[in-house]
Amino acid sequence: MTKYIFITGGVVSSLGKGIAAASIGQLLENKGFKIRMQKLDPYINVDPGTMSPYQHGEVYVTDDGAETDLDLGHYERFTNSIMNKDSNITAGAVYYSVIMKERKGDYLGKTVQVIPHITDEIKAGILKLANDDVDVVIVEIGGTVGDFEGLPFLEAIRQFRKDVGRENVLYVHLTFVPFINVSGETKTKPTQHSVIKLRELGITPDIILCRTEKPLSVELKDKITLFCDVDKEAIIDAYDVDTVYEIPLVFKKQGLDKIIIKLLNLTPQMEELPQEEEWMEIVNILKNSKTEVTIAVVGKYIQLKDAYKSIIEALIHGGIPHQAKINIKWVDSEELIIPEKIDIAFKDVDGILIPGGFGYRGIEGKIEAVRYARENKIPFLGICLGLQCAVIEFAKNVAGLENANSSEVNPNTPYPVIGLMETQKQTADKGGTMRLGLYSAKLLPNSFAHKAYEKDLIYERHRHRYEVNNKYRQILATHGLVFSGLSLDDNLVEIIELKNHTWFVATQFHPEFKSKPTVPHPLFRDFVGASLKRKTKD
Ligand code: GLN
Repeated sequence: MTKYIFITGGVVSSLGKGIAAASIGQLLENKGFKIRMQKLDPYINVDPGTMSPYQHGEVYVTDDGAETDLDLGHYERFTNSIMNKDSNITAGAVYYSVIMKERKGDYLGKTVQVIPHITDEIKAGILKLANDDVDVVIVEIGGTVGDFEGLPFLEAIRQFRKDVGRENVLYVHLTFVPFINVSGETKTKPTQHSVIKLRELGITPDIILCRTEKPLSVELKDKITLFCDVDKEAIIDAYDVDTVYEIPLVFKKQGLDKIIIKLLNLTPQMEELPQEEEWMEIVNILKNSKTEVTIAVVGKYIQLKDAYKSIIEALIHGGIPHQAKINIKWVDSEELIIPEKIDIAFKDVDGILIPGGFGYRGIEGKIEAVRYARENKIPFLGICLGLQCAVIEFAKNVAGLENANSSEVNPNTPYPVIGLMETQKQTADKGGTMRLGLYSAKLLPNSFAHKAYEKDLIYERHRHRYEVNNKYRQILATHGLVFSGLSLDDNLVEIIELKNHTWFVATQFHPEFKSKPTVPHPLFRDFVGASLKRKTKD
């Protein structure tokens, strides 16, 4: 029988509910349980694919090409749970499905209502993750308790306990316990109110995770126990730590895994697994390594760091095998059109990374960043739009194709070195033409890419419409651009690189989505390695 853990958030947003959920997943996996994880998002967008990264942060892409919430990235980095299109459900997707059924007449003339039709649809979405091989399904509910739009989701998870049996469901509530500087006191009142709000909806939390600056005193825990009706052992501190990867260890130290096992009446499959020690070693490196390396990330969404969540994490992972800490220098691509700013931006960095992006803004600056990396032999990693900028830069400044560009940026360019494939041109619908999810690529022997992966064939996740234009491959190659990763039929360019450079690689796919602290992505590992090498040479 599959068990379920529902995680809600109270008081304020941005408390790290995704990290908390992922950490719980990891603790259970360490006890030998098979888990699945899911995020329910109460907004009306059918998926976050169309949302601006400025607002919503990164769109995380799964193997099967679902465009999902960035919390799924945390789940994949912390656990071995499989993510796919069933792992993220939005209110928009739920309503869309119900309305489609209504149009087809599936409700046989009934009045279609939030309860039971919307709530049933939500519950069916949760049940999809359960099967004989899954011990625990962990479901995070987006937003904050008290939000108007979250009500159908909270009602659905309330009903769920009755549907599958009380003993099979656990409610975990993550709240904020603020320290008030002027009075020098830590306050539990917001937590009390948030739990009252949950109870009004018929949900009593079994476990409360308290986000605090410092560990909570016994008196404060007593107070929360009294007012919120939760056992003292089930009140867990989630105090501030140096690295998010420490959270599972903080939870474990307070016995959160044991409490969950007790409350859900689970039988642990084994005592400790070696992966726990490996994780401790990783946290140790992240907290204590003395070596540092500075990487410039050149983007246009740098005001909201969540827009580059997986990139940041993959860079951190890339430092682990080298026992190195990563300093990210955020560079606004739009500023780089001013020549003096280029040297200021890059003179003290050890590596330059250009991440993905959409639209024409900031492109010129990114192309200047590529030129700087190429000419000064600074290790360079370009991702998706980063590859496209690298190809444009090479075409213009090395191959002599003046005014070369991507047709996304300038539809009238004389040399569209990046463009739409014929098949894509036929589908006008924007959402439909994107190349999404896992595709294979074969690697060129002796290339930087092949040395990193140590494989002939790789599988990576994509999210883009434009491709390297095959018409220009010959001339670019003649001038020295290396196509080190190609699709099996040779038709699509997946990786490019430069010879006679410290390390210069760009990918049409997004390697950052597959990096984990336990398995740093080989391209990020070698990029950080090359950056370190250059730094120590200086
Ligand atoms: N805008 C480019 C395209 O659609 C790159 C996309 C990306 O960087 N994810 O092809």
